[in-house]
Amino acid sequence: MTDHANDVAANLAEIKARIDQAATDAGRPAGAARLIAVSKVQPVEKLEAALAAGHRLFGENRVQEAKAKFPAARERYPDLELHLIGPLQTNKVKEAVALFDVIQTLDRSKLAAALAEEGAKRGRLPRLYVEVNVGAEPQKAGIAPADLPAFLAECRDVHGLSIEGLMCIPPADQEPAPFFALLSDLAARNGLSQVSMGMSGDYELAVRLGATFVRVGTAIFGERIRPAPHG
Ligand SMILES: *Cc1c(COP(=O)(O)O)cnc(C)c1O
Repeated sequence: MTDHANDVAANLAEIKARIDQAATDAGRPAGAARLIAVSKVQPVEKLEAALAAGHRLFGENRVQEAKAKFPAARERYPDLELHLIGPLQTNKVKEAVALFDVIQTLDRSKLAAALAEEGAKRGRLPRLYVEVNVGAEPQKAGIAPADLPAFLAECRDVHGLSIEGLMCIPPADQEPAPFFALLSDLAARNGLSQVSMGMSGDYELAVRLGATFVRVGTAIFGERIRPAPHG
């Protein structure tokens, strides 16, 4: 094995153990939260190392980048599961629906309408989560917590979409715990089973506060070496 492969496999094993420990510490079953390995802007060898270590659950935040890396991997690993965790433009909906198993970033009516239209054409859609702007940050994507019930009703009643969960990226400069608690509470109150929150620096806290998915990049793969290309 190369150093990359050793590092990635060891990091995955350690983080999975920590996730299970955080879950049991909080009185949840081990396995209550699953690890999404965020492979954006990482060399393909590191993705290969994660696959070789048996990991199958990945997140990417750009459609074009995912399209370059994942169709080939999926042929070799049909049980691979890919989540879109970055913003989705309506002109990329068709490609995103073809590529991803889960779209976590449904954040506006226009996108809901475009997904519904593409779903009607194909007869299937990825599983969908709504992104919530838990910190009410003006520059950030996501539905405001106060608007969530109405948006979920619109997705269901106007667009015929079934929503499985919620996702958030809390404000970078604040203690994340209250935002994680808020997202779990919003999911519970709206009858949604999946909660995607927590990244490299705070995934254990997110698990203690109810995450069913954590999204971890640098703690598995190391620092990203270049900014993500557009697309
Ligand atoms: C990049 C990214 C992550 C992973 O971040 P790390 O700090 O590298 O773990 C998680 N969620 C989203 C939405 C991201 O864009």
